[in-house]
Amino acid sequence: MTVSQKNTSSVLVIGASGQIGQDLTTALSRELGPEHVIAADIREGSTHSGPSVQLDVCDRKSLYQIIDQYQVDTIYHLAAILSAKGEQDPQLAWQLNMDGLLNVLEAGRETRINRIFWPSSIAVFGPNSPRDKTPQHSIMDPNTVYGISKLAGERWCEYYHQKYGVDVRSVRFPGLISYESPPGGGTTDYAVEIFYSALREGKYTCFLQAGTYLPMLYMPDAIAGILSLMKAPSDQIRVRSSYNMGGLSFEPGELAQAIRQHLPDFNIQYVPDFRQSIADSWPSSIDDQEAKTDWGWSPTYDLERMVQDMLHQLQARHTSQQLV
Ligand code: NAD
Repeated sequence: MTVSQKNTSSVLVIGASGQIGQDLTTALSRELGPEHVIAADIREGSTHSGPSVQLDVCDRKSLYQIIDQYQVDTIYHLAAILSAKGEQDPQLAWQLNMDGLLNVLEAGRETRINRIFWPSSIAVFGPNSPRDKTPQHSIMDPNTVYGISKLAGERWCEYYHQKYGVDVRSVRFPGLISYESPPGGGTTDYAVEIFYSALREGKYTCFLQAGTYLPMLYMPDAIAGILSLMKAPSDQIRVRSSYNMGGLSFEPGELAQAIRQHLPDFNIQYVPDFRQSIADSWPSSIDDQEAKTDWGWSPTYDLERMVQDMLHQLQARHTSQQLV
């Protein structure tokens, strides 16, 4: 079974030029054919081989026009301002993260859209949430505008499902590690930056301190998880706010040590900045049993395999001069 049931329909990826969007657009194109995947972003310059459109998701009229024009039946809504960037401009983060989601949910209610994916984040948890193996249901007191917007977003998703039957599905992503595109301003970005610095300079100055455990996930697992969630029969999706999703949990020193297995001279220093207090308010690991039980979530990469694959992929780019 494919994500889209009808050959004439298309899926719309909003925020397609971002860290997740690029990989997801590629994966969906492989499944459905690039002509059935519409890559939308506020930024120009998409690399997608199928249709690309410039869209501000806060502009509902344009969103509806694109849905109509391309006969979109499924939306992957990824456009957001992430945790660290959100703290620089809280009003803007709230506006984009809320208005964008509400426009997409309204499209689910008013148009031909029959399935929506929207990612939440571990940022919905806060200083009073249990830190280790944070359960699906627990205290949630986020203290960043990003976390507040994601928690409110989760409540809206559940509301639209219960009140209007909108088939919206969501996961709480941990920090995502990828080689295809750079991260977009989150607190876990160090876990991507470190690879580039290790290969270019043999050293890295980390903005989080040693011992800061955070949940993380390698992008291939994240993409497989999105596709699997979206293919699951509707009655198996029992959580309509957002599923906890775990994978890896490590601290910067452990990641540095795993990199040293391949680059023995690699050196890490720690100069924590404002992102340390954000990280300190987040879980260190996640209990994702409900996702495993309900729709078969099953990550495949451990720390060693992830590091080996990241270095392999980036070294290949380095050789072909594409490492930026
Ligand atoms: P990103 O910042 O890399 O990409 C977001 C994309 O959205 C960018 O290409 C940007 O140009 C686009 N965009 C911004 N404003 C827009 C607008 N008004 N209209 C249309 N497009 C717009 O983010 P990402 O890392 O790919 O994250 C995607 C989603 O996943 C977000 O909702 C984020 O909160 C969530 N998430 C990401 C992570 C992570 O580690 N990357 C972790 C948890 C949750």
